[in-house]
Amino acid sequence: MCQVCLTAHASSGVTLLVAPLAGSRGREGNTVGIYLCADLACSLYVRGRRQPKLRHRRHEESLTLDEQVARLTGNLDAFLDRVTAG
Ligand SMILES: [Zn+2]
Repeated sequence: MCQVCLTAHASSGVTLLVAPLAGSRGREGNTVGIYLCADLACSLYVRGRRQPKLRHRRHEESLTLDEQVARLTGNLDAFLDRVTAG
């Protein structure tokens, strides 16, 4: 499952993105990872303009589209905070 847009994928549809931490910790080889849609189309999945290659559709959401988009950007911001933390 993509950790940004929470779309469930077949195993090939999601990939681990690994980023070096900012600053000296990154130069020492420390990284942080997040599972993302392999095609980076989180925005399209959230808006229903693309469907994952699974037999079932994207799980039903109780949030509005705006709330889902806010959650997506919040998840991405949280990841970037992890990259730049410290
Ligand atoms: Zn995604």
